[in-house]
Amino acid sequence: MNFLALFARNLTKGPYTEPFPFAPAPTAKRFRGKIEFDAETCEGCRLCERVCPAGAIRMTRTAEGMTFDCWHDSCVFCGNCEFHCPTKSIHQTADWHLAHTQDQKFLMVEHALIPNQICAECGKEALATAPATRTVTPPLSPTETQHLKALCPKCRAKFIRARKAAA
Ligand code: SF4
Ligand code: SF4
Repeated sequence: MNFLALFARNLTKGPYTEPFPFAPAPTAKRFRGKIEFDAETCEGCRLCERVCPAGAIRMTRTAEGMTFDCWHDSCVFCGNCEFHCPTKSIHQTADWHLAHTQDQKFLMVEHALIPNQICAECGKEALATAPATRTVTPPLSPTETQHLKALCPKCRAKFIRARKAAA
């Protein structure tokens, strides 16, 4: 836009300035902002942790299960974790409200826990991750998926083998 056209537009419509923080500012639909994590659908593969170039993601085995932490002040918003996550359990939101004071830096984290559970089949303790079912053929029914979720990795594998043999 040349100067005269810009001048004329600003005279009629006013300059393009957002009244933020006194009113909400529009955010582009594909804006890459704050990370969100869904422990319900996570398979616990830890791929997101390995591909994060900033080391912003840490998954840690604890007595209660596996914790997930994503430090918003380390994240460089590259989208690598979302791209590689097989279940889309981690994704970037359009939320850019991440300004904080130094004393708040330890609060700038997306924290979640994948808890332990007792396997419904063998009674052993295992992580209550979502089962990896994408490569299972024919596809699992919702009831089968729910059943698998309640099992430990060994019993899950046994269930899949038995299902394959019966097909
Ligand atoms: S969020 Fe995705 S990539 Fe990360 S551990 Fe869970 S399933 Fe794997
Ligand atoms: S967006 Fe990039 S830097 Fe941020 S947590 Fe994901 S992989 Fe790491």
